[in-house]
Amino acid sequence: SEKIHQSMKEGKVSFSFEFFPPKTQDGVENLFDRMDRLVSLHPIFCDITWGAGGSTAELTLDIATRMQTVVCVETMMHLTCTNMPVEKIDDALEKVKDVGITNILALRGDPPHGQDTFVAVEGGFRCALDLVRHIRAKHGDYFGITVAGYPEAHPEKIADPSAGATAEAYHEDLLYLKSKVDAGAEVIVTQLFYDVERFLKFYSDCREIGIDVPIVPGIMPISNYNGFKRMTTFCKTAVPAEISAALEDIKDNDEAIRSYGINLATEMCKRILAAGVNHVHLYTLNLERSAMAILERLGVIQDVNLARPLPWRPPVSGKRS
Ligand code: FAD
Repeated sequence: SEKIHQSMKEGKVSFSFEFFPPKTQDGVENLFDRMDRLVSLHPIFCDITWGAGGSTAELTLDIATRMQTVVCVETMMHLTCTNMPVEKIDDALEKVKDVGITNILALRGDPPHGQDTFVAVEGGFRCALDLVRHIRAKHGDYFGITVAGYPEAHPEKIADPSAGATAEAYHEDLLYLKSKVDAGAEVIVTQLFYDVERFLKFYSDCREIGIDVPIVPGIMPISNYNGFKRMTTFCKTAVPAEISAALEDIKDNDEAIRSYGINLATEMCKRILAAGVNHVHLYTLNLERSAMAILERLGVIQDVNLARPLPWRPPVSGKRS
């Protein structure tokens, strides 16, 4: 098992895939089918999210274990502080260590369900910085630690989504990001964005204040109009006017949305790669087609037959014992 920043090589384009824990056991099996196919494209790592408020803790741990030990892909498990007493965090870290996982995406998490502001559990961590410090203090250099970065500033720092973050709030968020890196984070993965200029500005602003770790753009291909609206509203993401206009015209046509999403993400990645960033992280939403099509168009994978039927698998009934 290798830390992900060690497998990002200068001058070589690499990519990775994010998944989330499905709600049903059938969903889990479907996910592993898709993952098998995506892993055959040789991502340098895959990551699995930690459900909001810790809702999927056990499942995330199980999926991460199976990814690392059965799928045999370098796995990064997300871990958040929401509703997580320190003992639970320690327990999760021990479990992943036992199965050979070395990469953690250390997050604060969103406020617990029904609350507007983040509240730490008693004696628990208030922010991702606390978690990064804790992991380093307790486990030394064992874990490769990644943290989240926000090209447009974290949404809590944005009072008016139509105007975006003020220069002060943006700068404060950037300095805080640097403190996460100074505490031991070795990679930054960004929140989704659709304005490439903003990402490139964020990238150079990070470099300017001395953040020198890999900054990995998180790309979410648009595959569904309502989902896109929900995500960009929740994250207060700036959507360039031409993208909004193009989507308005086709919003009732799922196939058109998907192919627009593939084109857009491909063009975004091309601009980012041309600017010298050599890793792209795809938010797959547990789907494979868009991710495959984007990578194929970028020329970083070969021989992908997108029309290939799914392999036959026996139907799954009930829970696995
Ligand atoms: P932090 O880094 O702690 O930052 C939170 C806020 O506090 C920011 O506004 C920050 O600027 C501010 N802040 C904290 N301390 C200071 C300080 N000292 N000075 C100034 N400002 C400070 N959520 C999930 O529930 N599960 C997931 O698996 C998950 N995966 C994610 C993956 C990525 C790549 C990203 C970008 C987000 C993910 N999220 C996930 C969402 C994330 O949990 C939320 O965005 C959450 O609100 C913030 O988490 P964080 O780790 O960025 O928090």
